[in-house]
Amino acid sequence: MMDRNLLKKAIQVWGKNAQLLMVLEEMSELQKEILKHINRGKDNLAEIIDETADVEIMLTQLKYIFDIEKSVEDRIPQKLEKIRVRLEG
Ligand SMILES: [Mg+2]
Repeated sequence: MMDRNLLKKAIQVWGKNAQLLMVLEEMSELQKEILKHINRGKDNLAEIIDETADVEIMLTQLKYIFDIEKSVEDRIPQKLEKIRVRLEG
């Protein structure tokens, strides 16, 4: 679903630091939409969808940049277990 080669090319062409800054920029755009939704009761589902897609694309690039795809994948079950314990004891 994510075009790996395209995203690797983006990192090559624009550089790691530029793409890492883009991670922050896209996260901040998503934050802004979430805050609008909560604080102003804005009907901005389309924007939330858009910014969530941007963040997912940038998080995928972040994982390529640090070569941590497998490590992140491996951490997820442990994180989920922590949530499970908090919810269910
Ligand atoms: Mg965006």
